[in-house]
Amino acid sequence: MGSENQKLHIFLFPFPAHGHMIPMVDMARLFVARGVGVTIVTTPLNLPLISRTIGKQTPHNPNIIINLVPIKFPSVEAGLPEHCENADSIPSPSLIPNFFKAANMLQQPFEQLLLQHHPDCVITDVFFPWTTDSAAKFEIPRIVFHGTGSFALCAAECMRLYQPHKKVSSDSEPFVIPNLPGEITMTKLVMPEHIKNDEDVEWTRMDKEWKEAELSSFGVVVNSFYELDGVYADHYKKVSGSKTWHIGPVSLCNRDLKGKANRGKEASIDEHECLKWLDSKKPNSVLYICFGSVANFLESQLKEIAMGLEASGQNFIWVMRKSQKDREEEWIPEGFEKRMEGKGLIIRGWAPQVLILDHKAIGGFVTHCGWNSTLEAVSAGVPMVTWPVFADQFYNEKFVTEVLRVGVPVGVKKYVEIVGDSVKKEAIEKAARRVIEGEEAEEMRNRAKKFAKMARQALDEKGSSYLDLTALIQELECRCY
Ligand code: UDP
Repeated sequence: MGSENQKLHIFLFPFPAHGHMIPMVDMARLFVARGVGVTIVTTPLNLPLISRTIGKQTPHNPNIIINLVPIKFPSVEAGLPEHCENADSIPSPSLIPNFFKAANMLQQPFEQLLLQHHPDCVITDVFFPWTTDSAAKFEIPRIVFHGTGSFALCAAECMRLYQPHKKVSSDSEPFVIPNLPGEITMTKLVMPEHIKNDEDVEWTRMDKEWKEAELSSFGVVVNSFYELDGVYADHYKKVSGSKTWHIGPVSLCNRDLKGKANRGKEASIDEHECLKWLDSKKPNSVLYICFGSVANFLESQLKEIAMGLEASGQNFIWVMRKSQKDREEEWIPEGFEKRMEGKGLIIRGWAPQVLILDHKAIGGFVTHCGWNSTLEAVSAGVPMVTWPVFADQFYNEKFVTEVLRVGVPVGVKKYVEIVGDSVKKEAIEKAARRVIEGEEAEEMRNRAKKFAKMARQALDEKGSSYLDLTALIQELECRCY
């Protein structure tokens, strides 16, 4: 049990990737605002990222005391380069298994921390399945955080249970995901190899472990809200048998400029400069292009993006990974930046994404459909051009384009880890116009704005996510006292 004036003390242990750490920090702030004590466990190199995301205590942010505890990440022992402690620094897709190996080596030091700090509960990433056993040893509950929404959770579960892909004769033959509300069609082309072919013994074993650990845990906390994906939230409870709490969108805990600008890495543009640029543009007239923290396109693809954007004639903010800057002169169309002056802003490195999305000038978001980006767009009422690359992103695309109908697909046909399938400039140009101009864009925007309003209401006192968080805290308190 925590100290006298903190009724409950929770350990949060995110997987070391921005898309997992950022929402967990937001989640920590939601708990702290309810008087719960929170300790975040992370690796030494991720500590500064987490503490800048937490931010400073201000009159707007009085409840910001979150403890941080380091845990050594065995990069070298797992065959990774030294200092590779975050998914965004894995040098090649072939080393992804090593990163998971390192994550699997953390059980003993994690249990040491449980012994030292004796929290009442742990909320840990799905990719740390062994934390269910660790929590059991200390007789405390483990709650799982997947980092994705209810639709993707349901879709993945229905795929696992019914294996419809095994009944088609080719990679491009469509099949309906059985028992998933909404008649959702997929092809094997957009599935990861290890699920498609059952051949990768290691991945299949890990998948099984994640699932088994979830089933014997206390439940699942989801970064979403009932008004958005309630049908799938209910369905997930039914098909998986897990208890769930929907407490998002957690990014909405960042209400002031600093909070919105400071999530994740230090932004590569001054937030005031960025806002000034956006202030000079008409409402709904700027396309924001960003592919999250892990996807990393080939130079040939970046060139197509540049040409597609130019041909579309739209204003844009384009976020490029820092590593893409190095050989820029080799692929960027000649004179591109000069011609785009005033029309396009390129951010090389890290963008203050939530701050940008919340600006009224933003009219559309070209996104890889990482769940955080998707939910941040929904929360800002911004329609999307969906450009999935890997992981849960193809499910999120279906949710955005076919269930919520707040986005149009750019036309990605194939799952390709990190670098993505290739998309031609004509498709980019067309999708960019479609999401900003005309009646269809207007309809999508209106729908998106309605979801944005519901998202805010969900977090307000008496809103669905607020009440679900209350229910979770009460259940934990009952269990602990
Ligand atoms: N993000 C950001 N600036 C960037 C790139 C990403 O603030 O330049 C944030 C984004 O707002 C989101 C997270 O990083 O909260 C990325 O998570 P997501 O699930 O969208 O994608 P992932 O990086 O996991 O693929």
